[in-house]
Amino acid sequence: MRIAPVEGNRQRLDGGAMYGNAPRALWARWSPPDEQNRITLACRAMLVDDGRRRVLCEAGIGTFFAPEQRERFGVTESRHVLLDSLAELGLRHDDIDAVVLSHLHFDHAGGLLSAHEEGARLLFPRARFIVGARAWARAQDPHPRDRASFIPELNRQLEESGRLEIVDGERSPWLGSAWRFHLSDGHTPGLLLAEVASDDGPVLFAADLIPGRPWVHVPITMGYDRFPEQLVDEKARLLPDLHARGARLFFTHDPGAALAAVKRDEKGRYFA
Ligand SMILES: [Zn+2]
Repeated sequence: MRIAPVEGNRQRLDGGAMYGNAPRALWARWSPPDEQNRITLACRAMLVDDGRRRVLCEAGIGTFFAPEQRERFGVTESRHVLLDSLAELGLRHDDIDAVVLSHLHFDHAGGLLSAHEEGARLLFPRARFIVGARAWARAQDPHPRDRASFIPELNRQLEESGRLEIVDGERSPWLGSAWRFHLSDGHTPGLLLAEVASDDGPVLFAADLIPGRPWVHVPITMGYDRFPEQLVDEKARLLPDLHARGARLFFTHDPGAALAAVKRDEKGRYFA
């Protein structure tokens, strides 16, 4: 089994929004802000190739936005970087057998669409799109607080593809026994966290529960999280389990690291 990071377009977002109630003096050490207080975030997918099937966890933000929106979200490149990164691995989007989506916020699912200039149509013509039942329900009926994070046109195209697989529970029969899901509600209801059993131990695609190394610290949340206290509780339950099993975390938004082990210091605090 091969697991590879697949870099997508990067974005620049307000650092305070990314770090919730953490003071700037703290987060600025982890993510140096620019003159507009924005920090750089990766939108990285994870490729899992078991020799038989190629599964992509998420698709990044892509470039489906019109240029003025692209500017607002700090997406500087107009080319679809994820497709170029796949090409570097010798793959095209039509080689992918499945895309597992933790949730349908645009910075995780927008890369399923072609570039704005190419009509923002659904790519990955052979893939099944695996989405959690509650994450799908949320995307269909968002709360006003996070409505702007979804792409209604993408939802429609996923449905019309006939290849949408809604999973309700810990397993997908198609993915098989090497895969399991953890569910989380702190960031958005029904966030689907895929864990794959690699040859070197479990790897968890941490999505927006733990978007990068600083958020391994249990109290650190994002301003975008719907239920921050619940998210803190979820991390406090999950990290001891991952630590005990020698699991590693795969980060989508950390610009400097794709994969890290979960460690615990002498005071019992977790870090990457
Ligand atoms: Zn999100």
